[in-house]
Amino acid sequence: MNSTPFDVAIVGGGMVGASLAVALAPLGLSVALIEAIAHDSEAQPSFDERTTALSNGSRRILETLDVWRSVSSAATPIKKIHVSDQGHFGFARIDARAQGLDAMGYVLPNRALGRALWERIEGASAIRVFCPVQVLEVAPGDPLVGIELTDAHGVRRSLQARLVVAADGMHSAVRRAFGVEAESRDYDQTAVITTVLPQRFHDHVAYERFTGSGLLALLPHLGMGRRRTLGRRLDAHPPTA
Ligand SMILES: Cc1cc2nc3c(=O)[nH]c(=O)nc-3n(C[C@H](O)[C@H](O)[C@H](O)COP(=O)(O)OP(=O)(O)OC[C@H]3O[C@@H](n4cnc5c(N)ncnc54)[C@H](O)[C@@H]3O)c2cc1C
Repeated sequence: MNSTPFDVAIVGGGMVGASLAVALAPLGLSVALIEAIAHDSEAQPSFDERTTALSNGSRRILETLDVWRSVSSAATPIKKIHVSDQGHFGFARIDARAQGLDAMGYVLPNRALGRALWERIEGASAIRVFCPVQVLEVAPGDPLVGIELTDAHGVRRSLQARLVVAADGMHSAVRRAFGVEAESRDYDQTAVITTVLPQRFHDHVAYERFTGSGLLALLPHLGMGRRRTLGRRLDAHPPTA
């Protein structure tokens, strides 16, 4: 048992838990961050090969946390958004410039975000990292919550905290321990996520298209289809109805 209770124990060091740990680090609280899988592991479910579309508001949060400058060079600005509905007249075009913004949002590789957040975490003296360590049990109590941990060799330890944050994803063990109900529904749909190389430069345009068989979303990603590959400027064209 760790004798001194933590002010905050964050279970899950994915996108949400790692961001919260960085935000809490300067506040003078003692913070435990418990994560089952290292951020640079192939098996990390949050910081994987996917990209995340960040709103401009999320970018500002990362700027406040002083994380944005470490990831901005890997981020692709979304300067325009084109929304259409197959078989229906009309479409919406949203232009960041018209809103007085540099971009409506940014597409960021998850791994880049994980690296930047965890660099900050590893340099923060207020954060005690338990990783790779899994939470086995959470015992709700007042004023302290007990947390039972195990490492990869099955070695167990316990700690206590005044506040526990459930940032352990959609199958949250912490949520279950506190008896918080969750409802899930099967949409009977399959999502395909992939990276494609377009013939034409994406021109920082994001497309969202509603069709009878589902939604198609295209996001611009860094050098994909850069105009220098083609040797001449070609504008991105919207899909036809
Ligand atoms: C295909 C897809 C595309 C998406 N695109 C976007 C997007 O463009 N923009 C956007 O904003 N969001 C997007 N999302 C949503 C976004 O990925 C999630 O909201 C986000 O990852 C949730 O982060 P999280 O930290 O809460 O949970 P997770 O990412 O699930 O992380 C949970 C963490 O907790 C750890 N953990 C779990 N159980 C335990 C335990 N018992 N002990 C210790 N550690 C534990 C896991 O190892 C993991 O690191 C997308 C999601 C999907 C599936």
